[in-house]
Amino acid sequence: MPKYQTKLVERVEVAEGTMAFGFEQPANFNFTAGQFFTLILPNQPYNDAKGNRRTFSIASPPQVDGHLQIVTRMTGSALKRSLAEVALGTPVEILGPSGAFTLHADTAVPAVFIAGGIGITPFRSMVHDAVARQLPHQIILVYSNRNLEGTAFHDEFRQVAATHRNFKYIPTLTQADKSQRRWEGEQRYVNMDFLREHINDFTKPIFYLAGPPGLVNTIRKAVLEAGVGPRRIQAEEFEGY
Ligand SMILES: Cc1cc2nc3c(=O)[nH]c(=O)nc-3n(C[C@H](O)[C@H](O)[C@H](O)COP(=O)(O)OP(=O)(O)OC[C@H]3O[C@@H](n4cnc5c(N)ncnc54)[C@H](O)[C@@H]3O)c2cc1C
Repeated sequence: MPKYQTKLVERVEVAEGTMAFGFEQPANFNFTAGQFFTLILPNQPYNDAKGNRRTFSIASPPQVDGHLQIVTRMTGSALKRSLAEVALGTPVEILGPSGAFTLHADTAVPAVFIAGGIGITPFRSMVHDAVARQLPHQIILVYSNRNLEGTAFHDEFRQVAATHRNFKYIPTLTQADKSQRRWEGEQRYVNMDFLREHINDFTKPIFYLAGPPGLVNTIRKAVLEAGVGPRRIQAEEFEGY
């Protein structure tokens, strides 16, 4: 696995308890939307038994030249506390890119992306990549969170849906009553009924699922129950959550 030296150049809160970190894209580091890398923070100021490396999906699309962004829930682990505090310009190492969680080539086959919480990261890259390359795939994004404050990139996806006929955005908030902002959209968990109501045809799309393993497994069960064969399901489990 190739190892690259780079540095932290951006740090911004993108939702409640959720930070984006940006890194200079090393020369010759080329990736496909949906892939991930392993981040190593040498000499981190905080330490715990879990160490100084983690795997993160790349949340920015390849068209953002010179910049790689990751997005994560701030759980309080030593690595994440360190990332939140070290100076911009701090050197980091990245190993990758890796992974085959990428959009299929056949543009006649629709894609259904289902993200549980922070599982949105590969899809953010894939949606912006599809827009930038004017790919004709039909894409439906189902995005489940507890509340609106914790829903990263909600306004961004609404905007893409408003301007691109091929992209449909279906957010659901399972604890909408705990949102400060008013919510009149979906509030159900992503189960078989939810999917049958929002997706007309289950025979054609490829289903892509991403997020913490517990969530991905629950959603996978619902997709299978809705009648989708396992060969049309791709999953990226964020092991470690
Ligand atoms: C393909 C892939 C893509 C991912 N993409 C993202 C993403 O885009 N955003 C995101 O937030 N997360 C992502 N993750 C998960 C990410 O790698 C972290 O596991 C997660 O963010 C939790 O990290 P933490 O520091 O908050 O949790 P912690 O629980 O503090 O740390 C989790 C890590 O520590 C290890 N660990 C746990 N307990 C111990 C122990 N007792 N001793 C030693 N090691 C231990 C785990 O194996 C794991 O590597 C991804 C994971 C994978 C596999």
